[in-house]
Amino acid sequence: MENTFKKKVIIVSNREPYTMKKGRLSKTVGGLVSALDPLMRSNNGVWISTGSASDVEKSGARASVPPGDGAYSMRRVAISPGDVEGYYNGYSNRFLWPLCHMTLDRVHHLRSYWRSYVKVNGLLAGAVLEEGAHDSIIWLQDYHLALCAAEIRSRSPGALISLFWHIPWPPHAVFRICPQRKELLRGLLANDLLGFQLESFKVNFMRCVEKELGALVDMEGGAVHLDGRTTYLKSFPISVDFASFENAAASGEAAVFLKRFLRARNLEGLFIALSVNRLDYTKGMIKCLEVIEVFFSKYARYRGRVSFVQVAVPTRKVEPFLSYRDRVRRKVEAINLKFSIGSWKPVEYLETDLTHTELAALYRHAGLAIISSVYDGMNLVAKEYISSQCDLTGSLLISEFAGAAEEIPGVTMINPYDTESCADELRAAIEKEPGRKRAAMEEARAYVKKHDVYRWVRKIFREMDQITDGRLSFEASGKNKLTVE
Ligand code: UDP
Repeated sequence: MENTFKKKVIIVSNREPYTMKKGRLSKTVGGLVSALDPLMRSNNGVWISTGSASDVEKSGARASVPPGDGAYSMRRVAISPGDVEGYYNGYSNRFLWPLCHMTLDRVHHLRSYWRSYVKVNGLLAGAVLEEGAHDSIIWLQDYHLALCAAEIRSRSPGALISLFWHIPWPPHAVFRICPQRKELLRGLLANDLLGFQLESFKVNFMRCVEKELGALVDMEGGAVHLDGRTTYLKSFPISVDFASFENAAASGEAAVFLKRFLRARNLEGLFIALSVNRLDYTKGMIKCLEVIEVFFSKYARYRGRVSFVQVAVPTRKVEPFLSYRDRVRRKVEAINLKFSIGSWKPVEYLETDLTHTELAALYRHAGLAIISSVYDGMNLVAKEYISSQCDLTGSLLISEFAGAAEEIPGVTMINPYDTESCADELRAAIEKEPGRKRAAMEEARAYVKKHDVYRWVRKIFREMDQITDGRLSFEASGKNKLTVE
């Protein structure tokens, strides 16, 4: 093809795609890595991420992955403990995370956080430049990297750079809290393409640009013109690997796990309502437990017949996440104290990180999954539950404040602030006639199957192709393959 040029893909994310476990590299669990790993394998690209200085010293800055195959390179940029605190725990997780999720009483800002954030973004940009920014497609992931593109562009003006913002973007009335709002917006506008989960987040971003920078904003065309450059903006709701969850749910390994799990926890024969989240205050776990409490008070006949299984994944072992975890634990204890009968407990609480096969087993078995987020960019658990529901026997109750609720047909929306109505919805979902459950789940599954994570990647690359006037060459052969030449 004549005006095609070969480009290497460089992905940059805070977390690495492979982590060292028991002396060997194993793939990081998560939809993003599952989706991008095949792309990187076929492209021979580079995946750049941060690593603690001591880890990098121990296991080296560069590795060929997957182990034994060496299809692409993983490069880790060493950051000091002080910068882990400032850039990651501080600016990213104590400031941007609550700001973007609009939990303003949890927003905590220190100038030292910002200094680290600038520094680490600069270090990552430096690594991209060393890999050859000009000949690459650079794809930045998430809110940790808002300043990276500007730094890369200052030294490689023609680079093709895109960033996907995985979390919500707040309205201007909230974003204006940010002391570095202009710097963040300018940093992000150095990308050629900015991706958001939802149309509403994209619109919020564009309004912030209009108000703060006075830039020329083309709302309809999804573009911002500033200082002679154009940035394109678009929503691309992220998804999951449908086939992989469906297969895992139906696997023998899942069946063995489930049997053992139900027996060990005295859950055999009970109707299971399931919730799976990181121990993060945006997930509305206390609200969900309040719903469970009202449910067992109001509908006492379900005691001894229904159990609520909460998988709570430890996350960010710093405040305010630790206090939140303690509140969740106390609430679980209180409910169990109030309603337990003999060996039956209303809440089965697991503070652990399960594998995808183990999760798929629970997703398949659970007659109900509850997503109670008070605010959530997308929520992959919702899509994983649907993907694993191969028997069509379950229902999904999902907070209207989770991005996935806007997208998926056949699910029941709830307002986690309206505890009593949620408890009524829970009862209605348990009682729902099997034919109606099946029809709703079929509809939801058809949607997620079609809109899987591979389609998400393809759509973003197609958009980049358009930006470069079709000079990238694609081979989107087969579902799970995308080769960029
Ligand atoms: N997850 C996991 N093990 C667990 C619980 C969750 O691997 O025990 C994964 C889950 O499969 C999902 C991710 O964690 O892919 C959570 O993504 P989600 O979008 O729901 O929320 P986030 O944690 O990104 O805010």
